[in-house]
Amino acid sequence: MTTAPDLAALIRFVLVRTSHPGNIGSAARAIRTMGFERLELVAPARFPDTEANALAAGADDVLASAGIHDELIDSLAGSSLALGLSARRRGVNLPEISPREAAAQVLAAAARGEQVALVFGNERTGLENEELARCHAMVRIPSVDDFSSLNLSQAVQVMAYELRVAMLGDDVQASAPVRDEPPADATQMEQFYVHLAQMLDDIEFHKGREPTTIMLRLRKLFQRAQPDERELRVLHGILADAQRMAQLAAKR
Ligand code: SAH
Repeated sequence: MTTAPDLAALIRFVLVRTSHPGNIGSAARAIRTMGFERLELVAPARFPDTEANALAAGADDVLASAGIHDELIDSLAGSSLALGLSARRRGVNLPEISPREAAAQVLAAAARGEQVALVFGNERTGLENEELARCHAMVRIPSVDDFSSLNLSQAVQVMAYELRVAMLGDDVQASAPVRDEPPADATQMEQFYVHLAQMLDDIEFHKGREPTTIMLRLRKLFQRAQPDERELRVLHGILADAQRMAQLAAKR
């Protein structure tokens, strides 16, 4: 039977475009106190940095092993569930869940052996629509409406705490039926979206319209479906056939 430390290893905390290295250090401390160690940094403004180490207060192992990436998608490789933390609802209109519900979903996925990402935005601007579009749900810490934004590392602490409480609580394994086919990870989903976009171009779907909005909608649809690897292969096959037919039609 899986033990709590194994579950923790499947869970990563992703900080996107962090401005202040102190917040990276505080976040490292926050997750370390709750039994987590995997931190992924996407385009941090300053890192490594002595301020990060100062605020990590001994959680230097977390900082030393943190992954550094140029793009959010690279930080999500291997994960099949991504939850974006945001103080505000954005245009993407993802399902909104509480940190407690998020913890339950994360642990259920981890108990199936799946990797999970919790994604946090920039201190000032939060997560962009394009970033939230790579997530499956939005997690909102229920703060007051007229002052809703927590400090980044405090938001990390709240989420890590909820995960810790859920892990110490009831038997998460019991509620986690194993899937017969592995879910597609973020990288495979991204390859699918690239193929989908190419196919839509090839069949001249957009007819001069700007593709951004429709692509975000389609992402939302397929993120919700959470296809497994076999399903994704079928979808790629359909796209490839559509492209082939478009080529034939162009030749006539
Ligand atoms: N003005 C920004 C605030 C960013 S705070 C915004 O509205 O999004 C930095 C990060 O901390 C956010 O991107 C989010 O990941 C997290 N955070 C802060 N307050 C939060 C809350 N109430 N619920 C969920 N996440 C929150």
